[in-house]
Amino acid sequence: MTKVFVDKDLCIGCGSCVAIAPDNFEFDDDGLAKAIKEEINDDVKTAAESCPTDAINIEKEN
Ligand code: SF4
Repeated sequence: MTKVFVDKDLCIGCGSCVAIAPDNFEFDDDGLAKAIKEEINDDVKTAAESCPTDAINIEKEN
């Protein structure tokens, strides 16, 4: 199974991921992004690649 999550220690709340993949990311109450789904798609990959702080982690599990 694949999981996606945002490292809040790295996120700066720029909003890029929310704009690119609104079905998968949203702003949390603290103004930082969070993943709202575990599955990934091309938008999630694009968001992860465009994150300026590499805060989006895509983890593959067996
Ligand atoms: S693109 Fe990265 S830094 Fe910007 S809000 Fe999303 S996780 Fe945070």
